Amino acid sequence: MKRSAEYVERMRCRVNAGYRSTQVVRFQARVNVMGEADCWEWAGVRTMAGYGRMKWDGKPTYAHRLAYGLANGAMPPADLFVRHKCDNPPCCNPSHLLLGTHADNMHDASERKRGVGHPSAIPFSDVPNIRAYLSAGQPIVSTADIFGYNASAVRAVKYGIGYPMDIR
Ligand SMILES: [Zn+2]
Repeated sequence: MKRSAEYVERMRCRVNAGYRSTQVVRFQARVNVMGEADCWEWAGVRTMAGYGRMKWDGKPTYAHRLAYGLANGAMPPADLFVRHKCDNPPCCNPSHLLLGTHADNMHDASERKRGVGHPSAIPFSDVPNIRAYLSAGQPIVSTADIFGYNASAVRAVKYGIGYPMDIR
């Protein structure tokens, strides 16, 4: 198991920023951190649907929400979902997670059911190219077609939702 040095460093910053360090350590111990692009699966308790769970501030909390919150400096608002670009419920790799609404979540689920071949996971390596197309005036929908992703994922790239604006 390879632990990404960057991830460990980021987590250390979160500890210093005031998250209760024992919780962060317990969280980290249950994430199988692999390579940058791989899924980092939760090794602790999972729900029936496969999502990781652990107690956070005394409350049972989804592991992927914690992963998103720790990586981004703030826990996601309760009314927003943390979605998996990789479609792998136990995954806690922050770069596979993005914020979305309930409608986005339903949309993901129906695309999956239809088996539409437009994945919603956009690797960070494609983000600069997609942004270049968009800033050259390409509409979201046609950019999505060109790159073979769905429009909601391209929209997330455009507005930096789950894709930091400084990715180059
Ligand atoms: Zn993943």
